[in-house]
Amino acid sequence: MTPTAELQKPSIKTALPGPKSLEIINADAEYVTPSYPRPDYKLVADHASGVWITDPDGNVFLDCNAGVAVCSTGHCHPEVVAAIQKQVGELIHLCGTDFYYRHMPELGKKLNEIVPIDGPTKTHFANSGAEAIETALKLAMYHTHRQKFIAFQSSFHGRTLGALSLTSSRKAQRLGFMRQPLDVVHIPYPNRFRHFVTDQVTDQATVTRDVLNWLNKVFETTTPAEEVAGIVLEVVQGEGGYVPAPTAFVKELRRICTENGIMLIVDEVQSGMGRTGKMFALDHHEGVKADIICMAKGLGSGMPIGACTARADIMDWHKGAHASTFGGNPVALTAALKTIELLQGGLVDNSREVGAYLEAGLNKLKEKYDVIGDVRGFGMMLGVEFVKGSGDDPHAADAELRDRVEMACYQKGLIILGCGNNTIRWSPPLILSKENVDVAVAIFDEAIAASI
Ligand code: PLP
Repeated sequence: MTPTAELQKPSIKTALPGPKSLEIINADAEYVTPSYPRPDYKLVADHASGVWITDPDGNVFLDCNAGVAVCSTGHCHPEVVAAIQKQVGELIHLCGTDFYYRHMPELGKKLNEIVPIDGPTKTHFANSGAEAIETALKLAMYHTHRQKFIAFQSSFHGRTLGALSLTSSRKAQRLGFMRQPLDVVHIPYPNRFRHFVTDQVTDQATVTRDVLNWLNKVFETTTPAEEVAGIVLEVVQGEGGYVPAPTAFVKELRRICTENGIMLIVDEVQSGMGRTGKMFALDHHEGVKADIICMAKGLGSGMPIGACTARADIMDWHKGAHASTFGGNPVALTAALKTIELLQGGLVDNSREVGAYLEAGLNKLKEKYDVIGDVRGFGMMLGVEFVKGSGDDPHAADAELRDRVEMACYQKGLIILGCGNNTIRWSPPLILSKENVDVAVAIFDEAIAASI
């Protein structure tokens, strides 16, 4: 079912933000931490259904961000709501670290069926993406008896202290926190639209070769491969700009990890759970399997959940080595079980099919506007990168234009969000229909025209 059928277009009735929204924004400024990295536009949600968000002033927005790739089944999907409501009447909490309930093995078994990992797996449940990453880091250190990690420039893996050692997408994330607790070496990400040396477009083979050469140098100098516990990879870099890694690169990393006893840790927090038109982004690289996979965001349709699934023989730590009071809460796990059922029941297919339709619409805009340098991604994880388009350096990034387009979309009732320096991410709820796409792309078109 599509809970979005009746309403076809955004409806903006007040100046934005409206007066009731402003009251909330002002109260927030007084009482809430200023550290949230909110965009220039200010969306206040009152309630939401499907792909539509209503603010306190009655303005209705078309959501193509899904609470940053979280509301995979759409806002308040009736089946998810019903499952959660039933669960809260039966069991809200017991603490899976000390007691048992059916939801943990049920979701563990489900994840075992769907994750791209060879052989049997086990899962540790957490409350967020960063926590799932913390689990993966600790597990890799424990299992390999090694301490070093390799991560990628422009990657994002969360803001808790361990995860922060990996994260490198923005200066603001590290500024003020001084030395990092973990020994992490960052290498360039294989971005074919901006080669890490030239900043120019290159081909996948070249950028794959150059990053692998760099990794080899790292192994031969500061960071011997035999001391590396894990390589942490976003198969499609998320916060860094919605950049997919080439298949040859992912395959080669797998080979390097296997040969050197390094854990290949795949961060599917943003790219997982059907977002790319397959259940996991790694599924786009046939035959490549991870040792450890981190999930969160879309897994619970908005309920806080993180999961770290690993090969069963890797998850060999002792009792008490890692646990969390709320991690694997029965209500969150119920939401995840229902979410996966809906994903397998058609939403992954919808992500692929309607995502391809959206990509085609965005590519038409790329033909129309020189300022769109690149449209990339898979399924409903699509990035649109803005460039100068003319002048001395038409390929130069245009972050200000990206921000203006983002704001113009908001003013017209379309919610999209930037990522990377100059990219707009499309990460809509996976229930998005072709009709929704037509509306969204038309608004995006108008917003670009008004912003250049
Ligand atoms: N990993 C990736 C790839 C992410 O995109 C994010 C969040 O954006 C995280 C980890 C951290 O997740 P959380 O914000 O739930 O801690």
